[in-house]
Amino acid sequence: MVEKIYVTYNQIHKLCQEAAPKILNEFKPNLMIAIGGGGYVPARILRSFLKQPGSPNIPIQAIGLSLYEQLSDGGPVEAPGTKVTRTQWLDLSSLEMANLIGKHVLIVDEVDDTRTTLEYAVRELEKDVETARKEQGRSEKTTFSIFVLHNKDKTKKGHLPAEMLENDRYIAAVTVGDVWICYPWEAEDIDEHDSMAAKQSI
Ligand code: 5GP
Repeated sequence: MVEKIYVTYNQIHKLCQEAAPKILNEFKPNLMIAIGGGGYVPARILRSFLKQPGSPNIPIQAIGLSLYEQLSDGGPVEAPGTKVTRTQWLDLSSLEMANLIGKHVLIVDEVDDTRTTLEYAVRELEKDVETARKEQGRSEKTTFSIFVLHNKDKTKKGHLPAEMLENDRYIAAVTVGDVWICYPWEAEDIDEHDSMAAKQSI
């Protein structure tokens, strides 16, 4: 059976707090894109720690991606590592995508497992922002960085741009083995979840 790790809200809060100085110094993000649903809570916590006196809060945009396998009867079933579907995306026709041009964009998710989701998010965002840049006749460069709470140390199916990894624009707060991480926002009984977490040391 796959080992389970229970992570509490407090632990997640502290992981975001500890990562914030490095994110501020190295990425200097002026926009976050949270991949739903796991990226929403970390992005919101991070925003508090990225706030600089005299500057406004960093805006958070949400995108939704899920991994599906298309069954022969046409019904989708969740099956990690197969096909990524957009459930929510930035509006290409409005200013949402154009708003990314020239920005330091931090993509936030909870876990990097097979890396399929992150590969899709980076590739598609880069493509769409490049289209918007050309359409607007602008020349500024957009840079994407990634923050995840947990990276699983395993062979990845998805790949990130070499330039992103070489320039250290990927931060995982914690690297774990190929375990199953139980996040607090998924818990049916949060007290039970927290007591499971208290019994472990990670
Ligand atoms: P990927 O395989 O594309 O890196 O991750 C796909 C998605 O699977 C993640 O965004 C997350 O929703 C889910 N996932 C993968 N590993 C875990 C895990 O250990 N715990 C939880 N709760 N979700 C996971």
